[in-house]
Amino acid sequence: TERLRVADTAVADAIAAELDREQNQIELIASENIVSRAVLEAQGSVLTNKYAEGYPGRRYYQGCAPSDAVETLAIERAKQLFGCGFANVQPHSGAQANGAVMLALTKPGDTILGLSLDAGGHLTHGAKPALSGKWFNAVQYGVRKDDHLIDFDQVESLAREHKPRLIIAGGSAYPRHIDFARFRAIADEVGALLMVDMAHFAGLVAAGEHPSPFGHAHVVTTTTHKTLRGPRGGMVLTDDEDIAKKINSAVFPGLQGGPLMHVIAAKAVAFGEALEPGFKSYAKAVIANAKALAGRLQERGAALVAGGTDTHLALVDLTPLGITGRDADEALERASITCNKNGIPFDPLPPIKTSGIRVGSPAGTTRGFGVAEFRDIADMIADVLDGLKANGHEANAAVEAEVKARVRALCARFPIYQD
Ligand code: PLP
Repeated sequence: TERLRVADTAVADAIAAELDREQNQIELIASENIVSRAVLEAQGSVLTNKYAEGYPGRRYYQGCAPSDAVETLAIERAKQLFGCGFANVQPHSGAQANGAVMLALTKPGDTILGLSLDAGGHLTHGAKPALSGKWFNAVQYGVRKDDHLIDFDQVESLAREHKPRLIIAGGSAYPRHIDFARFRAIADEVGALLMVDMAHFAGLVAAGEHPSPFGHAHVVTTTTHKTLRGPRGGMVLTDDEDIAKKINSAVFPGLQGGPLMHVIAAKAVAFGEALEPGFKSYAKAVIANAKALAGRLQERGAALVAGGTDTHLALVDLTPLGITGRDADEALERASITCNKNGIPFDPLPPIKTSGIRVGSPAGTTRGFGVAEFRDIADMIADVLDGLKANGHEANAAVEAEVKARVRALCARFPIYQD
């Protein structure tokens, strides 16, 4: 950063501010994590200079031997992590990975069936404003009103009625395990392909702490930066050789140009870390911590969507506390706790307000927080929300400053990026 500071103070200042933010606030955004110095170093490497269109051993440019080496490492480690036969590690992001599957296995106008955004699905699963919602006949399933679990009766009846080409399981704000076998049975019955988007819980699958979609899904997509704790990026995996060939052509030359070789190097490093025994204890702790955080929030008066969590995230319904998601996430940010407002199933409030917040344990667990710390964090959150309510929903400067001091003290006990 010394060279950057000399060359460009404005950018160096912004990065320094981000480092300070990450060191001194509590990160509860469920899709974020804290990567190792080794991952940062690989991503900040000279591989950013290289064009390597194609795949290892089949490149369109000369000088690709080092690129072949890192991409092969990433592929082999990904296959080992998930126990599958094929990995394409080139997608620049999770959205690109999902787009590649659609390009490989469907045609514009085909019917796709995915979890609706309101029920915890992702934009790329057929939401109206996204390409997946515009270029396909996107039919959406939801969750049941009583227990917020996937409504399989609805999935079944929509699948029979619309005969989708592709069924998508997975989401961004669904806290429970997904019954992959049940999805596959429905896909088989109607002649659909099943894609599981494990972006959120991939790290838990890699560690053997979450049911695996392999053996059920025809194709699996993921991001690499959430529970998997790698650089921002995407990946497509499968055991089906025919689908594998189509995926390779869809990623390049179908959807993307040159792969981001520096990011692929960082993916290889992160996958190597995830293969270490320590990653299994990390994933176990992620789940225990999410349960502790959610459980304590419930004790302090919040409701939990789907009654709790099996994973790294919880969706907290603030309705019993009489606070909106927007008021909550803004107040929490003032107190140095970062999370996001999130609609709850059947939310009466619009997406800019929402009735809930989504909280997750992956980043906090990486810095070393355990169950006791996550219970403390739940108390800090509840204190901020109580303070907001006590002050007629206006910022409560005294309570927020007091919690901010507790956050700083906790972060100081679990430092990150010190060296
Ligand atoms: N799929 C799911 C389930 C996600 O939650 C996300 C990101 O939040 C994506 C795909 C998209 O990933 P990216 O933001 O890398 O495009």
